[in-house]
Amino acid sequence: MKNITVVKGDITKMNVDAIVNAANAELRGGGGVDGAIHRAGGPMIMEECRKIGGCPTGEAVITTAGNLPSKYVIHTVGPIWYGGNKNEEKLLESAYNNSLRLAKENGLNSIAFPNISTGVYGFPKDLASSIAIETTRNFLKLNEVDIKVTFVCFDEENFQLYENKLEGH
Ligand code: ADP
Repeated sequence: MKNITVVKGDITKMNVDAIVNAANAELRGGGGVDGAIHRAGGPMIMEECRKIGGCPTGEAVITTAGNLPSKYVIHTVGPIWYGGNKNEEKLLESAYNNSLRLAKENGLNSIAFPNISTGVYGFPKDLASSIAIETTRNFLKLNEVDIKVTFVCFDEENFQLYENKLEGH
């Protein structure tokens, strides 16, 4: 069975141990996938985020998932794309690595990622998908953990990128 798969759809519907939120550093919610997760999950998640207080770019924190079908939400903060000279690639890699690390530390078996930073944060989708897939493959190999990873793409362009890159593996 494949450990890394892609689906097209809404991440709030995913019945996995943890869904990942593309949050902002203040953890105060917003638009895009962040807004969708807080709307669907209810106020409990925001309550926990307020207590945590914030999360630097590239890092990740975990909360429960309120009314969502998943058990946890891992909130990570992807980089804003400023053109490529502000360490954006490494920061995106860290966002994926730190989310996976939290999944491992909490003994989780499945995790679903949105396409972090590719919405309002403007990270080029092709580059972001390569980083997401490579970082995930390396993490699973290096850590020898059996975590099922699903990339949940909201738009067709991202879905095609992931399908093409995951094909044949
Ligand atoms: P960022 O600020 O990290 O760019 P966005 O939420 O603006 O975050 O976008 C990240 C990605 O999440 C985009 O590709 C966007 O299309 C996607 N997205 C938006 N809503 C959802 C959702 N409900 N489920 C999954 N992905 C979503």
